[in-house]
Amino acid sequence: MDQPSRTRTKPLPEVAKAHRDPHNYPHGVAFLDSQYVPMAEAKISVLDWGFLHSDATYDTVHVWNGRFFRLDLHLDRFFAGLGKLRMTIPHDRNAVTEILHNCVALSGHRAAYVEMLCTRGASPTFSRDPRDAVNRFMAFAVPYGSVANAEQMQRGLHVAISDKVRIPPASIDPAIKNYHWLDLVRGLFDAYDRNAETALILDTEGNVAEGPGFNVFAVRNGALTTPAMGVLPGITRRTVFDLALELGVPAQAAPLPVEVLRTADEVFITSTAGGIMPVTVVDGDPIGDGAPGPLTRRLKDLYWEKHEDPAWSTPVHYP
Ligand code: PLP
Repeated sequence: MDQPSRTRTKPLPEVAKAHRDPHNYPHGVAFLDSQYVPMAEAKISVLDWGFLHSDATYDTVHVWNGRFFRLDLHLDRFFAGLGKLRMTIPHDRNAVTEILHNCVALSGHRAAYVEMLCTRGASPTFSRDPRDAVNRFMAFAVPYGSVANAEQMQRGLHVAISDKVRIPPASIDPAIKNYHWLDLVRGLFDAYDRNAETALILDTEGNVAEGPGFNVFAVRNGALTTPAMGVLPGITRRTVFDLALELGVPAQAAPLPVEVLRTADEVFITSTAGGIMPVTVVDGDPIGDGAPGPLTRRLKDLYWEKHEDPAWSTPVHYP
């Protein structure tokens, strides 16, 4: 078992070349093959099943103001995904935690997007049997990013509902966070074709499911509904349930018909990349009065307050 030591948390050399590289990388630090390297040097083989077959699982947690937000929940989901995919990594939960801390500390970022991932890997013989592959664990920390930019956070996102259908849960358990995104990416192009900024796609029953990297909530008569079926059980979605309980706001996971979303009082999306983000236009029509709604704003404010609360967040071990 590889146990990274805290002594490795010294600054890494700048990657000046990254600025000239057409495949430009954000500044950050990755961990792979038991080493910490600048993002631009974090590379895998094209023979890795993670690349060839999307045979991988991952999780993303964020660091805000030098603190991880709900890291334990992300680790739970990641290790559950590994188990369901029959992948093994040579690091236990404590070691993964330390690797994530080290990636952030080495990067120096106070606001970071931190990913842990495992691919099936490759086998030396290019065997077609996944049991022959050597699983590969990696992690990295890059600057924090959001689904919605500052302007969209202010005025609300413009979303289109695509007719593309999310991979059914009978095919892939959506609780295994995965890189099967072709349905979501095709939905995104549908949205761009209709002058929207992002997309929601459907479940197999024709109800709203989720979007590229986020869950969705509708507010009607002061109560929250989010799709129950065929979606990633997002940690931010779960956090909205926790906050709603604290505020005494009713919240349920239930089928969300397209028409119910279009006629909601408020709509918002949730993701580790951006938190709670207002949606003010769906399929070209305004939601409510066309401005981010009061419950959305209240939940969003409370969500960011919790980032300073030791019950919800843990400080990064910077050197
Ligand atoms: N749905 C999908 C498909 C995602 O990829 C993500 C996050 O990447 C989410 C929902 C939101 O999950 P979380 O709140 O855990 O970031």
